Amino acid sequence: MSHRPKVVVVGAGPAGASLALLLARGGVAVTLVEAGTSLERQFRGEALMPSGLEALAAMGLLELIPDLPHRPLVGWRFVVNGQELFTATEPLGGDPSRPCTLVSQPALLEALLKLAGTYPSFAIERGQPVVDLLWQQERLAGVQLRDGRQLPADLVVGCDGRGSLVRQKAGLALQSSPSPIDLLWFQLASPVASPLAGCFTTLVGPEGVFSAFESASGGLQLGWVMGKSKATPELSREGWIERMAALSPPQLAAWLRQWSSGLGAPSRLTVQVGLAERWCQPGLLLLGDAAHPMG
Ligand SMILES: Cc1cc2nc3c(=O)[nH]c(=O)nc-3n(C[C@H](O)[C@H](O)[C@H](O)COP(=O)(O)OP(=O)(O)OC[C@H]3O[C@@H](n4cnc5c(N)ncnc54)[C@H](O)[C@@H]3O)c2cc1C
Repeated sequence: MSHRPKVVVVGAGPAGASLALLLARGGVAVTLVEAGTSLERQFRGEALMPSGLEALAAMGLLELIPDLPHRPLVGWRFVVNGQELFTATEPLGGDPSRPCTLVSQPALLEALLKLAGTYPSFAIERGQPVVDLLWQQERLAGVQLRDGRQLPADLVVGCDGRGSLVRQKAGLALQSSPSPIDLLWFQLASPVASPLAGCFTTLVGPEGVFSAFESASGGLQLGWVMGKSKATPELSREGWIERMAALSPPQLAAWLRQWSSGLGAPSRLTVQVGLAERWCQPGLLLLGDAAHPMG
């Protein structure tokens, strides 16, 4: 009997979940290993840019979107010192029927996994991080899970994100481009729609810079730009609302003050941009943020 190749994909983010689905659909025996039991994370990027939509279309997966929490972006609006500068209306280019679309990432990932689960050659290990790599001479030959089990593979694909353990254990160096900024990320829950009117809005003024958009699942997401070397300001909820309101046109400022009680505590997100010097070696491939962090 001929040897049936086995692939282990590490990480069920956008890269790993879609690759595992494509392999399973092609009849390849694939095991997807995901460290988390849930794909909900406090922050998972939501914006599907034209290239992301194009990739979903090429995989025949665009039809998943209407059934998921989603919201087409109306445009990109810029406000400087409380004054409207301009709004660039979506779609900015490419396919006129495909504006940049906000999609709940956990819901999209779950939909990809559900579809993958309909193919007999697909298997998944959830809540089970890969802790080590298995080698046969110079070739990667599988992974070891936290519970001690070993999964042999002809190919291991590291899709385990920017801190990739697979990349590190394989000794593939990451060249990082220094980023001068971090982001303070907030969520604001409110029972009524904001005056952003579907636009990704960036507000600039002497007090700072922040962006805001309505999340696909409701509520607002707000990112305050911080210099990397700057300490996170210790402000109360009202203090943050006042900082944001100071940069906002009157209608948005009033709305922020009205719903200030819905503002959650900020999380500081480290911006990381980099490129692994090599993406492959015998038995191993890196994809997604594991190969080129960009968030
Ligand atoms: C706040 C924020 C907002 C963003 N917004 C956008 C946006 O709007 N649009 C956009 O295109 N991009 C955005 N990005 C970037 C985008 O999220 C990433 O580029 C994308 O998630 C990378 O996908 P990935 O599958 O390579 O890795 P990830 O999404 O990081 O997924 C990696 C997966 O691997 C799992 N994992 C990690 N280690 C192990 C292990 N040892 N064993 C098993 N599993 C493991 C993790 O649990 C995770 O599920 C944003 C990033 C951030 C931080």
